[in-house]
Amino acid sequence: MLGHMMQQELMISDLLTHAEKAHGSREIVSREADGTAHRYTWAECAARAKQLANALLAAGVKPGDRVATIAWNTYRHIEIYYAVSGIGAIVHTINPRLDPKQVSWMMDHAEDCHVLFDTTFAPIVAAVREQCPAVKSWIALCDTSKLPQDAGELIAYEEFIAAQSDEFEWPRFDENTACTLCYTSGTTGNPKGVLYSHRSTVLHAWCGSTRDALGIGAVDSILAVVPMFHVSAWGLIYAAAMVGAKLVMPGANLDGENLANMINKEKVTLMAGVPTVWLGVLQHCRANKVSLPSVQGAIVGGSALPESLLRAYEEELDIPMRQAWGMTETSPIGVVNAPLPAHDALPGDELVKVKLLQGRRIFGVQMRILDDDGKQLPEDGEVSGHLQVRGPWVASGYFKGAGADAFTDDGWFNTGDVAAIHPDGYMEITDRSKDVIKSGGEWISSIDVENAACNHPDVAMAACIGVPHPKWDERPLLIVQPVPGKKPPKEEVFACIAEKCAKWWVPEDMVYEEVLPIGPTGKILKRELKDKYNN
Ligand code: AMP
Repeated sequence: MLGHMMQQELMISDLLTHAEKAHGSREIVSREADGTAHRYTWAECAARAKQLANALLAAGVKPGDRVATIAWNTYRHIEIYYAVSGIGAIVHTINPRLDPKQVSWMMDHAEDCHVLFDTTFAPIVAAVREQCPAVKSWIALCDTSKLPQDAGELIAYEEFIAAQSDEFEWPRFDENTACTLCYTSGTTGNPKGVLYSHRSTVLHAWCGSTRDALGIGAVDSILAVVPMFHVSAWGLIYAAAMVGAKLVMPGANLDGENLANMINKEKVTLMAGVPTVWLGVLQHCRANKVSLPSVQGAIVGGSALPESLLRAYEEELDIPMRQAWGMTETSPIGVVNAPLPAHDALPGDELVKVKLLQGRRIFGVQMRILDDDGKQLPEDGEVSGHLQVRGPWVASGYFKGAGADAFTDDGWFNTGDVAAIHPDGYMEITDRSKDVIKSGGEWISSIDVENAACNHPDVAMAACIGVPHPKWDERPLLIVQPVPGKKPPKEEVFACIAEKCAKWWVPEDMVYEEVLPIGPTGKILKRELKDKYNN
């Protein structure tokens, strides 16, 4: 017997309509390229998204067409998110930190028909447009007066939408229709496209809003540092509309000083980004004796949260940090580190240990760990294995059938991460499968060694890689980015590691790099370091 409940498809446009009707006066504040603040409301955003929808239809965009963006986190990018998916087309977000060759490869692979880009990315457009003859129009996110001169024939976004009506009835269609295409960073081989659906996006936003995930509501002012060109800014654009939160969009300038200024001016309550961003904000706050009194929490993900960063935020800035783990393929929320009642009574240092785990099971994402032979391993917090996940916002395959071997016959996605699962549901990443260091047949977790090294006050960042060794196959090498002006002695850094890790995990040697190479999604480029230090 079927229930007698309304069958209503989950549509991204409903999020915007809800924000417009229920929270129409709540603000979206964006930093423009010239440093000025642009302010408007969810109601104005909805009106302009409707103008854009009308403009896209007039330009011949059809359901299923791919419309690319190369853009920072700003109000216009939000309008594009909602308008493109709202008419049944697909937003293809392109990471501008990629090499132009990779960008043109992706545009070709995605068969993008229109490209909307921030004027700061005109050089990328100039470099790729010859290779992308299928693109029908290149639209610069500005008004006519600010059109870049050196990127070929362009249309100004403001002109593109100006004559269009702000009346539009969002169509309803199958909730499984694709809405967004985001390519993984692809350190080996070509990048692979992950194609989200309306259903997966709305469910993910719902989950993200809950108290033990991002924990947001209408009273929040959310700083979305995590870029809209990488996994839809962790779904914040959708979750904020769902709950009616204020959005603070930092645009191009992501240095510590600019972010701290925006946080204080816009009374940010929650901020989300990768550890390197929070390191920049911390250094600015320390150097200038700045505090961030409005902030009630920071979500940190994308790579492991170092203990030193967690302690600095909680002890110096009084800002609780909540770690999250996820991937492009998981929309991205996979686990989030929210406390359990049992943690109330834990002494400080024990609580820190819990907070350094990647996060706890949330409803919607199932996890399991397997050994090399595919046998499921116990969830005892001791053994680690290959982490597999499944759920309604986890990819079931890649765009155009790429990378099929990442998906198992029984319906799981192989994350490529190595993890332990604790009996109380917390998941602990010990490594990426490809970064784990195999010394004498045993595994060394590069993440644990890096975290321990960062406990030295003069270590800003650390990367631990495996280098060939005649006896042990591989041994760890530590590469350290010192705090500017400091040079932490090897013995002291190794003592920090010995304090937290097994003795044989202490690296063979340590070298200094003034600045560690950071990849397009904010992670340390270990591949580059491995190539450099392989001998
Ligand atoms: P991407 O798909 O580019 O977002 O990268 C996803 C990968 O980033 C994951 O598979 C992990 O290896 C890594 N990652 C994300 N969040 C964390 C975290 N909190 N701790 C450790 N690694 C993480």
